[in-house]
Amino acid sequence: MTAKPTKERMQKEKLYGKTLNELIGVTKRLGMPGFAARQIADWLYRKEISSVEEMTNLSKMMREKLSLEYEIGLSAPENFSKSADETKKYLFKVQNDKYIETAYIPEDDRATICVSSQVGCKMGCIFCMTGKQGFQGNLTSNEILNQFRSLPEFRKITNMVFMGMGEPLDNITELLKSLDILTSEWGYGWSPTRITVSTVGLKASISEFLEKSRCHLAVSLHSPFDDERRKLMPIQRTNSVKEVLDIIRNFDFNNQRRVSFEYILFNGLNDSTRHVKELARILNGIKCRINLIRFHPVPGSPFRSPDMSAVIAFREALNAKGIITTVRASRGEDIHAACGLLSTLELNKS
Ligand code: SF4
Repeated sequence: MTAKPTKERMQKEKLYGKTLNELIGVTKRLGMPGFAARQIADWLYRKEISSVEEMTNLSKMMREKLSLEYEIGLSAPENFSKSADETKKYLFKVQNDKYIETAYIPEDDRATICVSSQVGCKMGCIFCMTGKQGFQGNLTSNEILNQFRSLPEFRKITNMVFMGMGEPLDNITELLKSLDILTSEWGYGWSPTRITVSTVGLKASISEFLEKSRCHLAVSLHSPFDDERRKLMPIQRTNSVKEVLDIIRNFDFNNQRRVSFEYILFNGLNDSTRHVKELARILNGIKCRINLIRFHPVPGSPFRSPDMSAVIAFREALNAKGIITTVRASRGEDIHAACGLLSTLELNKS
């Protein structure tokens, strides 16, 4: 059998997920005219093509040059499950043999996609299935945005949250590239207020994220007490909530930009009036809101979710302290919607 020419065997680089600056680098290197980078960005992010051949305002010679080394680089989800409440959980294969999860959550007047930023996670939060998988790799901006572009519901999506697998700020370079593509006029042109990035509170990267993007920030809090939070979230040992709150206090959030705190309620653990008082104390002076989330039970976990009346009482107590507090509707409980469950099942299968 004759071996294929080297260039055909060579893995092509993916164009989708490249920023305008990176595309300028590609076109310069290939000796293409300066305006070609914007044309390529337009085809990638506005015209939704799936092959280089479709870039018809580039000359045939330029397309041939480009497709020798590059491909668009989109890949459809491998699998999905649909909840009775219409939430869908998609499974994407990345980096050959690994799986990540993406949730599609339709509501009356909007549709939110919850994307992953890493395969597995280093943070080790003890209530999280993704944390139990350990860290397996950072997603590239191609793999982050492919979850959005390759979703069958792509055109219906109005909002994006980085709350899937992984800690987005632990992959800040690829995160910022993705946000650049989503919000730039040469990209998707989204308002940054349609995007929320969630973090456990990595102090080294929070400032960079706040400086370099205008998207909303959501910090996972889960307890206002140091010792208790340390048991739930090991990150508290090196990145205390106090330090994170100091950074947020000193940042000038404009009217449009929002900071919120995510608070998973565990029955009998972090849902007392003592917690309400301490939350009001530590968040004093920060214009924010709290999103309460009922814990999604996961196999083998000792934690339980409080009943709805306890959740409402906790919400009312915080509202009475002047903190705008909402309860996030639990979606897709029947399809393993808790972060990391579906991919763990897939991992175990293989
Ligand atoms: S909750 Fe988020 S940060 Fe914590 S282990 Fe899970 S994926 Fe990582």
